[in-house]
Amino acid sequence: MTITDWSENLGQNGALAQRLPQFRARAQQQAMAAQVAQTLQQGGVALIEAGTGTGKTFAYLLPAMLSGRKVLVSTGSKALQDQILEKDIPLLTDVVGKPMRVSRLKGRSNYLCLHRLQRFSSEGVAPLLAAPLAKIVDWAGRTREGDIAEVSGVPEDSAVWPLVTSTRDNCLGSECPDYQRCHVVEARRKAHEADLLVVNHHLLFSDLALKANGMGDLLPRVEAMVLDEAHQVFDLAGRYFGRQLSSHQLWDWARDSRVEALGEAADDALLLQAAAELETATSAWRTALGAGEERILWTLTPGSPEEAAFIHLRQAGITLLHALHQASARGKGLEQCAARGVALLASVEFFLLHNAPEMVFWQEKRTRTVQLHATPLDVAGPLQKYLLEPIEALVLTSATLRVGDSFTVTERALGLSGAQTFNAASPFDYARQSLLYLPSGLPEPSHPGYTSACLQAAIPVIEASAGRTFILFTSHRALQEAASFLPRQLGFPVLVQGSMPRSRLLDRFRSLGNAVLLGAASFWEGVDVQGEALSSVIIDKLPFANPSDPILRARTEQCQAAGGDPFRELQIPQAVIALRQGVGRLIRSETDRGVLMLCDPRLRSKAYGKIFLESLPPMRRVSDLEAVQQFWKASLS
Ligand code: SF4
Repeated sequence: MTITDWSENLGQNGALAQRLPQFRARAQQQAMAAQVAQTLQQGGVALIEAGTGTGKTFAYLLPAMLSGRKVLVSTGSKALQDQILEKDIPLLTDVVGKPMRVSRLKGRSNYLCLHRLQRFSSEGVAPLLAAPLAKIVDWAGRTREGDIAEVSGVPEDSAVWPLVTSTRDNCLGSECPDYQRCHVVEARRKAHEADLLVVNHHLLFSDLALKANGMGDLLPRVEAMVLDEAHQVFDLAGRYFGRQLSSHQLWDWARDSRVEALGEAADDALLLQAAAELETATSAWRTALGAGEERILWTLTPGSPEEAAFIHLRQAGITLLHALHQASARGKGLEQCAARGVALLASVEFFLLHNAPEMVFWQEKRTRTVQLHATPLDVAGPLQKYLLEPIEALVLTSATLRVGDSFTVTERALGLSGAQTFNAASPFDYARQSLLYLPSGLPEPSHPGYTSACLQAAIPVIEASAGRTFILFTSHRALQEAASFLPRQLGFPVLVQGSMPRSRLLDRFRSLGNAVLLGAASFWEGVDVQGEALSSVIIDKLPFANPSDPILRARTEQCQAAGGDPFRELQIPQAVIALRQGVGRLIRSETDRGVLMLCDPRLRSKAYGKIFLESLPPMRRVSDLEAVQQFWKASLS
């Protein structure tokens, strides 16, 4: 087998086809595998766009397994990480024909912390958490890996999980009495021994951020990496190479200090009082920031209630840290809480000064919580230093890396020069399988009646496809308007994002077979509904980022200061990639058929609309409803 011939493994009569009856050979998959293999062997960086249906997971896994190198694969989601470990690799190991050491590593919050379980089991928890805690105690005696995904019957967002899992802040490390049996330590040991290590992006970027801060590392050194869903890298780098401080971190520190004090220094009334005061001061700080949920710049006007509350919080933190230092000789838990307090107070100080011109400071308010962020304006520098330079071979792949037919936007954002670029086009026959409907006569998106007009125009499209529709919105306000209007107009079940967990909503959508699902941000990506259950995708507006978003505003100013055109260089490319992700929900297999309705009239009225249209798959475009109805009639006959 040469590096350009992958038919032996991925061809119609290849090794995989013999083991997988439903396997279909795809020239694009073989071409991508050849490109991945070449990069893994010769080194360098490859940017590979793999259209929907290419079979990109096998196209990078198989060359990685055959490369003879120590390779790390990073996925955009834990679900794909699990699928690779549990389904894909066992199948491919059979094809490769030699045993391999393969390991999956997740972030530490995915593993049971034996020390904290023991601590909270003996200290007791709130009455509501007693039943889930009992389930976890029962499972803890049986589990080998300690991966909390194994536990059924305790919801993912249960408040019990932070009590029985660890953070870098609260882990006792080698001082821990349970260190020898620790699930996190064991998972990391296996990761170091693996030939092929599968992680997710959050863990990978946590590792890069630790390296950037000179605080060690989580992952072993590898020779090569493959990053799937690589269109997320830019945003992830902004988040992880920055700094954060959240009300949760402060509350957790106060609570853990109280719990450790009760275990190791129950007579220390000053310490217990200081912990309680920090909890109160953190709540008061959140209240001082005002009600509502929003992402806005972080500023501290001198003399303002916000500044007073933050200074009060800092003082409460200093008092707690002092009390912890006084008591730290009485136990490892208290000593560790003191060390954690030093790091947290350094962050409080950093956000109090908020003086780093290379960063944008912003706050993300939720109803009861707040998180402060300092996001670097330039991520290309740290990416170059901590991701690209240390690695011999790097493959970045995704279904959406190009704008128009060019990789330039991605290359520029990530600071790549000299990367190999390769487009593995989708094998789907979009011209036959799909239709792009651009309705005419809708008002401009800024018109107050725009959403209502879109919904009216969507009704006959939904009826023509007998329900079976996703409507993707760019704002929660529009989603809510649709949620109150459409159920009264349609004879199909209407499912609304937020009414139940995402995975249950999707299961319900699939099983109903005629439902209409209304979704915002989280449904634009990573949703795979094959077959007739999803026949139409309707998108209300071009997904431009909110112009008031603090990061976008700061990057816009930076771009303008450098003489650039932020609309063309930042906003359009970001919106094109987001639109392509949303559109990618429609056709998921060779037998799918579907209609895409893009309501936004700017696609035809503005010059930039062409950039969006030229970035979409080659669908037949129509603007009359009759053509949509004909499409479905022809499909049925
Ligand atoms: S070493 Fe850390 S994660 Fe492991 S059991 Fe101890 S505290 Fe928990």
